[in-house]
Amino acid sequence: MNEQDCKKLAELLFPDVDKTPDYYEEKYPYRKLPNKAEVTRLGPSPTGFIHLGNLYSALADERIAHKNGGVFYLRIEDTDAKRTVEGAVDLVINSLRYFDIEFDEGAGFPDSDQVNAYGPYYQTQRVDIYHTFAKELVLKGLAYPCFCTEEELEAVRLQQETDKVLTGYYGKYAVCRDLSLETIEENLKAGKPYVLRLRSQGSPENEITFTDSIKGEIKLPENIHDVVLLKKDGIPTYHFAHAIDDHFMRTTTVVRGGEWLASVPIHYELFHVLGFKMPKYAHTAHLMKFDEETGGKRKLSKRKDPELSLDYYRKDGYHPYTMKVYLLTLLNSNFEEWHEKFPDKDINEFPFSVDKMSVSGALFDKEKLHNICKNELSKLSEDDLYEFLHNWALENEPEMEKVWFADKEKLLAILRLYMGVGAKRRRKDFM
Ligand code: GLU
Repeated sequence: MNEQDCKKLAELLFPDVDKTPDYYEEKYPYRKLPNKAEVTRLGPSPTGFIHLGNLYSALADERIAHKNGGVFYLRIEDTDAKRTVEGAVDLVINSLRYFDIEFDEGAGFPDSDQVNAYGPYYQTQRVDIYHTFAKELVLKGLAYPCFCTEEELEAVRLQQETDKVLTGYYGKYAVCRDLSLETIEENLKAGKPYVLRLRSQGSPENEITFTDSIKGEIKLPENIHDVVLLKKDGIPTYHFAHAIDDHFMRTTTVVRGGEWLASVPIHYELFHVLGFKMPKYAHTAHLMKFDEETGGKRKLSKRKDPELSLDYYRKDGYHPYTMKVYLLTLLNSNFEEWHEKFPDKDINEFPFSVDKMSVSGALFDKEKLHNICKNELSKLSEDDLYEFLHNWALENEPEMEKVWFADKEKLLAILRLYMGVGAKRRRKDFM
């Protein structure tokens, strides 16, 4: 398609776009932050389920941002309406707050030029921005509409399996890649649904090399797939939204699950065609547990392991501070030694470092967690422990709370005795 046709096509597909890429570059300038400060984010889908893996990543994000005066914000990745649950955003904020993790910006904050200048922070409210860049790519011949039906795509996949070649929408299999403007116009007039695809510039012979902040240097084959950028309803895919959002929210380090590592070639190409600088990536290891059945390690699973849910710890009465100490132990291999050496220092003073994060699976070990609980609880004052127990009872056992906490002085005296307050050595076996 020549330049003229690309222009016509861009207008045809996005007649309502009235902004330019420059408009957004100006609207969301680079953040003025101290030297070395990092901008990180948590991008959960609002599914109403928040788990230990989220807390693990969020703590890494929060430490990376806050250790040098950066920003940690919350972006809601709500592009899948089927999975969106009401109240999910409050659940994320409140659950993380319980574990002493606070956002500086994003969903849940009032919009103002001072605080939420990089919003909106819900992806469904950012469609105008995505479309501006989709239009730009069409204009440059780097994106095109694809009218293939599910059945047609399935037929291509089966053919590729028979031919024993890579499956996917690329090269000669990408049949909509070279449709003429006339055919596209006809299809649009006929009301045929379409997705917008990237016209990949990648070649199977080439590799990309990048440095993952956790895993080190990584080489992967270049992307050759004409991946979907906008779905049939005009809502972006994860890939497209990620490139645009992390660029315009000025994220400097993307901490995300290791399952996204294989998609980096797509993101690499997207950042390149959009003219954006890639952020640093830190792909985290899976949380694993020891499997008694097999004697090996396996990923923590939502179905099999109730301890994956954050609610589990809250209901079961784990003190949030001890959870934080435990997760820092898992996150940074040198944390434990530091904490032993400086037991009285605020754990937020620990020099957290991304490159000390576990490269392969991080083993979640309940016994270790319990040991840490004993250790840390034995350092609390009886007042702190009283308050923690009281809050727990108010939340979880409101009826019994009245009975258990009727006589504060008596309970404090019991706690002093059990904790060994004032004795030569504090006890660690009281809980
Ligand atoms: N919404 C994505 C997820 O839940 C976020 C991944 C990311 O942090 O980029 O997996």
